[in-house]
Amino acid sequence: MFCPNCGVQAEAGSTCPNCGIYIPAQADAPQAAAPPPYPPQQPYQQPYGQPAYGAPPVEDTPNGGLNFLGCCIPMAGLIMYLVMKDQTPNKAKAIGKWTLIGLGINVLLGILYSILIAAGAFAGFMGGAFDNDISDILNACVTSLFLS
Ligand SMILES: [Zn+2]
Repeated sequence: MFCPNCGVQAEAGSTCPNCGIYIPAQADAPQAAAPPPYPPQQPYQQPYGQPAYGAPPVEDTPNGGLNFLGCCIPMAGLIMYLVMKDQTPNKAKAIGKWTLIGLGINVLLGILYSILIAAGAFAGFMGGAFDNDISDILNACVTSLFLS
Protein backbone atom coordinates (compact mmCIF):
# COMPACT_ATOMS: atom_id res chain seq x y z
CA MET A 1 0.00 0.00 0.00
CA PHE A 2 1.35 3.37 -1.00
CA CYS A 3 0.39 6.79 0.25
CA PRO A 4 -1.70 8.48 -2.45
CA ASN A 5 -0.22 11.82 -1.48
CA CYS A 6 3.52 11.23 -1.40
CA GLY A 7 3.94 7.67 -2.64
CA VAL A 8 5.72 6.33 0.42
CA GLN A 9 4.75 2.83 1.53
CA ALA A 10 2.22 3.07 4.34
CA GLU A 11 -0.42 1.08 6.20
CA ALA A 12 -3.97 1.29 4.94
CA GLY A 13 -6.30 2.66 7.57
CA SER A 14 -3.59 4.70 9.26
CA THR A 15 -1.71 7.93 8.69
CA CYS A 16 1.19 8.13 6.28
CA PRO A 17 4.54 8.10 8.15
CA ASN A 18 6.01 10.54 5.68
CA CYS A 19 3.38 13.23 5.15
CA GLY A 20 0.82 12.39 7.82
CA ILE A 21 -2.18 12.14 5.51
CA TYR A 22 -4.84 9.64 6.52
CA ILE A 23 -4.91 6.61 4.25
CA PRO A 24 -8.35 4.96 4.24
CA ALA A 25 -8.72 1.20 4.39
CA GLN A 26 -10.07 0.98 0.85
CA ALA A 27 -7.00 2.75 -0.38
CA ASP A 28 -7.41 1.63 -3.94
CA ALA A 29 -10.33 4.06 -4.21
CA PRO A 30 -9.31 7.63 -5.06
CA GLN A 31 -8.72 9.63 -1.91
CA ALA A 32 -11.62 11.90 -2.58
CA ALA A 33 -14.46 11.09 -4.88
CA ALA A 34 -14.26 13.71 -7.57
CA PRO A 35 -17.57 15.45 -8.15
CA PRO A 36 -19.18 14.23 -11.32
CA PRO A 37 -18.21 16.41 -14.23
CA TYR A 38 -20.86 18.93 -15.14
CA PRO A 39 -22.85 17.98 -18.18
CA PRO A 40 -21.91 20.03 -21.21
CA GLN A 41 -23.65 23.37 -21.08
CA GLN A 42 -26.74 23.57 -23.21
CA PRO A 43 -27.00 26.82 -25.12
CA TYR A 44 -29.78 28.90 -23.63
CA GLN A 45 -30.73 30.51 -26.92
CA GLN A 46 -32.92 28.53 -29.24
CA PRO A 47 -31.98 28.91 -32.90
CA TYR A 48 -33.87 31.67 -34.62
CA GLY A 49 -37.15 30.71 -36.20
CA GLN A 50 -37.72 27.75 -33.90
CA PRO A 51 -40.68 27.77 -31.55
CA ALA A 52 -39.48 28.15 -27.97
CA TYR A 53 -40.77 24.82 -26.73
CA GLY A 54 -42.09 21.64 -28.28
CA ALA A 55 -44.49 23.01 -30.87
CA PRO A 56 -45.21 20.23 -33.35
CA PRO A 57 -43.98 20.89 -36.86
CA VAL A 58 -46.68 22.39 -39.05
CA GLU A 59 -46.97 21.66 -42.72
CA ASP A 60 -46.14 24.89 -44.54
CA THR A 61 -46.79 24.41 -48.21
CA PRO A 62 -49.25 26.47 -50.22
CA ASN A 63 -52.71 24.89 -50.24
CA GLY A 64 -54.64 25.14 -53.49
CA GLY A 65 -58.05 24.78 -51.86
CA LEU A 66 -57.37 27.56 -49.36
CA ASN A 67 -55.94 29.74 -52.13
CA PHE A 68 -59.14 29.25 -54.12
CA LEU A 69 -61.22 30.11 -51.05
CA GLY A 70 -59.18 33.27 -50.51
CA CYS A 71 -59.66 34.20 -54.16
CA CYS A 72 -63.44 33.75 -54.00
CA ILE A 73 -63.96 35.20 -50.51
CA PRO A 74 -61.34 37.89 -49.96
CA MET A 75 -62.46 38.44 -46.37
CA ALA A 76 -61.87 34.77 -45.55
CA GLY A 77 -58.54 34.94 -47.36
CA LEU A 78 -57.50 37.95 -45.33
CA ILE A 79 -58.42 36.24 -42.06
CA MET A 80 -56.58 33.06 -43.06
CA TYR A 81 -53.55 35.12 -44.00
CA LEU A 82 -53.50 36.90 -40.62
CA VAL A 83 -53.96 33.63 -38.74
CA MET A 84 -51.34 31.69 -40.65
CA LYS A 85 -48.62 34.23 -41.31
CA ASP A 86 -46.71 33.39 -38.12
CA GLN A 87 -46.94 29.59 -38.16
CA THR A 88 -46.97 28.88 -41.87
CA PRO A 89 -45.67 31.92 -43.75
CA ASN A 90 -45.42 30.14 -47.11
CA LYS A 91 -49.03 29.01 -46.99
CA ALA A 92 -50.15 32.44 -45.77
CA LYS A 93 -48.26 34.20 -48.58
CA ALA A 94 -49.90 32.07 -51.25
CA ILE A 95 -53.35 32.71 -49.75
CA GLY A 96 -52.59 36.43 -49.53
CA LYS A 97 -51.57 36.51 -53.19
CA TRP A 98 -54.75 34.78 -54.32
CA THR A 99 -56.83 36.97 -52.02
CA LEU A 100 -55.40 40.02 -53.78
CA ILE A 101 -56.16 38.46 -57.16
CA GLY A 102 -59.71 37.77 -56.00
CA LEU A 103 -60.03 41.34 -54.74
CA GLY A 104 -58.78 42.63 -58.09
CA ILE A 105 -61.36 40.56 -59.96
CA ASN A 106 -64.09 41.77 -57.62
CA VAL A 107 -63.08 45.40 -58.13
CA LEU A 108 -62.99 44.94 -61.91
CA LEU A 109 -66.42 43.33 -61.87
CA GLY A 110 -67.67 46.12 -59.63
CA ILE A 111 -66.39 48.77 -62.02
CA LEU A 112 -67.86 46.92 -64.97
CA TYR A 113 -71.17 46.64 -63.15
CA SER A 114 -71.16 50.37 -62.31
CA ILE A 115 -70.45 51.25 -65.93
CA LEU A 116 -73.33 49.08 -67.11
CA ILE A 117 -75.68 50.59 -64.53
CA ALA A 118 -74.52 54.10 -65.46
CA ALA A 119 -75.01 53.30 -69.12
CA GLY A 120 -78.50 52.00 -68.40
CA ALA A 121 -79.35 55.06 -66.30
CA PHE A 122 -77.91 57.35 -68.93
CA ALA A 123 -79.96 55.59 -71.60
CA GLY A 124 -83.05 55.95 -69.46
CA PHE A 125 -82.28 59.59 -68.77
CA MET A 126 -81.82 60.30 -72.45
CA GLY A 127 -85.22 58.71 -72.99
CA GLY A 128 -84.60 56.90 -76.21
CA ALA A 129 -81.05 57.80 -77.09
CA PHE A 130 -80.46 54.12 -76.42
CA ASP A 131 -83.07 51.51 -76.94
CA ASN A 132 -84.57 51.02 -73.47
CA ASP A 133 -85.08 47.34 -74.07
CA ILE A 134 -81.37 46.77 -74.54
CA SER A 135 -80.41 48.54 -71.33
CA ASP A 136 -83.15 46.67 -69.44
CA ILE A 137 -81.81 43.36 -70.73
CA LEU A 138 -78.25 44.37 -69.80
CA ASN A 139 -79.34 45.34 -66.30
CA ALA A 140 -81.29 42.12 -65.89
CA CYS A 141 -78.28 40.07 -67.01
CA VAL A 142 -75.87 41.80 -64.69
CA THR A 143 -78.28 41.68 -61.78
CA SER A 144 -78.93 37.98 -62.20
CA LEU A 145 -75.17 37.37 -62.47
CA PHE A 146 -74.57 39.01 -59.10
CA LEU A 147 -77.63 37.71 -57.33
CA SER A 148 -77.34 34.08 -58.43
ZN1 LIG B 1 2.47 10.27 2.51
